[in-house]
Amino acid sequence: MNILLVNPPNCGRSIPEERYGIDSLKQIFKGEPLALEELAGNLKQYEVRIVDLKADPEGLDRELADFKPDITGITGVTCEANTMLQLAGKVKRQCLSLVVVGGIHASNDPGFFNHESVDFIVLGLGKKVFADLVTILKSSPGADFFLPGVIRTNPGKKLKVVPHSNCSTDLVEGTSPAYELVSSYRSHYTLEKLNVEMGFVASAYGCPYRCSFCCIKGQSGGKYLTKSIDDVVRDVRCLGEIPVIRLVDANTFGDVERAKLLCRALVEAGVKKQYLADIRSDTVVQHPEMVREWKEAGLRALIIGFEEISDTNLSAMNKANRASVNTEAIAILNEIGITIVGDFIISPDYDENDFQRLGDYLGNNHIDLPMITVMTPLPGTVLYKEKKSEIINHNLDYYTLTNAVTRTKLDEEQFYAHYAELLERSHSNARI
Ligand code: SF4
Repeated sequence: MNILLVNPPNCGRSIPEERYGIDSLKQIFKGEPLALEELAGNLKQYEVRIVDLKADPEGLDRELADFKPDITGITGVTCEANTMLQLAGKVKRQCLSLVVVGGIHASNDPGFFNHESVDFIVLGLGKKVFADLVTILKSSPGADFFLPGVIRTNPGKKLKVVPHSNCSTDLVEGTSPAYELVSSYRSHYTLEKLNVEMGFVASAYGCPYRCSFCCIKGQSGGKYLTKSIDDVVRDVRCLGEIPVIRLVDANTFGDVERAKLLCRALVEAGVKKQYLADIRSDTVVQHPEMVREWKEAGLRALIIGFEEISDTNLSAMNKANRASVNTEAIAILNEIGITIVGDFIISPDYDENDFQRLGDYLGNNHIDLPMITVMTPLPGTVLYKEKKSEIINHNLDYYTLTNAVTRTKLDEEQFYAHYAELLERSHSNARI
C-alpha cells in the first residue's frame, strides 16, 4: 500500500498587496511538515512518501505519476483549506487514490471538506487514527466502519461526526517522526535571520488556556497532552547535527515541573542545541528560575503571545493575563538575555491612536522581533461565533492573519498603511 502525505504550497492571499500595492504584509510559511512526519512515523510497515509543496512546488504531479498512491493524506491550516480541496481534486483526476484530509482546519471546520474530492476527514490528533484508518482500508476497502475521529464524507448531506477521544494513546509514544522522508528538502528548513538549519520537535499538544481567537483547541480536542520526556530527547537527537530546534508546541511550558525535567534530561543526555519555544508571559513572571535553567541548556529565543497592551482588550479575548505581567516578562527576559519574539494582534477596530499606542509600547519595551497580526475570526473559535455576522470576507485564502476579514474602522487603505508602517518601524531594529 502506497501512502502519499502532502504539505500544501504557500498559498495565502494578501488584501494590502492586491488592493493597495503594499507587499510587506504577506505571510510566507516555512518549516518542515512535522505533523506529516509524525503520521509517517507510525506507518513504517507501508511505503510512505512526503511531498512538501512549499519546498517542491511541482512535486505533486511527479509523485502521483511515479508513486501512484493508494491513499493520499493532505494537511493544512485555515488559509490553506481552499488549496487542500484543489489538491484533492487534482489527486482524484490523476489517479485512483483515496483522499484523507486532516490538520487544524479539518478538525475545526470538518464540514468545509464534505466534498466529492475528499473521502475521509480526520479530526484532532491523527497519528494513531490515521494508521487505524489505513489498516481498515487495506483489509476491507469497501466496508462500513466506525472509527472515532474519522468522518466519511457525504457531499450535500449532513456529516455524521464521530468524536475523537484525543488522549495520550493518540500520541503513539515510542515512534519517532519520519524525519528521513524530508531529507531532500532539509536545506529549505532554516532560521531565516541566521541562515542556519532548524528542525522541528513536538513536545506537547493543545493548551490549557482558552483564548477566544485561538484555534489550537481543534488540535487535541481542547486537552493539553505532553509527550514523554524520553521521546522528546529521542526526537531532538534524531535531528542529528541540526543546530537549532524549534519546539513547535503551542505551549511548551504549560506544565512547569515537566518543563524543568525536560530541560535537565536534555542536559544529562549531552544534547547541545539552541532552542526556540513558545511560553506565556505569566509563566515567565512566575518561574524565572525555570527560564534561567533553560537558558543554560541552550534556550535562545522565546515566542510570547502578548497580543494586546491593555487589560480591557486582553480580557475581551479571554487571555487570562494582564498587560503589566507582559511588561514584567519582557524585563525579566531582557535581564536573562533571552531573545523575545513578541506576538501582537491588532483589531480591525484600530484607529490612529491605537496604532500610535502600540508603536509607543514597542518603542519603550525591548522586544527583539515583534510579530503583528490582524485579529481574525478563524472557524471553530469562540471569536468566530462572536463575529460571524460581521465577516465580510469569507474566502479562506485571506485567513492568513494579516488581512482584515471584518470591516475596518479606519478607511481600509489607511488601516493597512498604518499596519505596514508599524511593522516596518518595529522590525528596523529586529534581532534574533
Ligand atoms: S493563544 Fe496561546 S495561551 Fe491562548 S489558548 Fe492559544 S496557545 Fe493557549
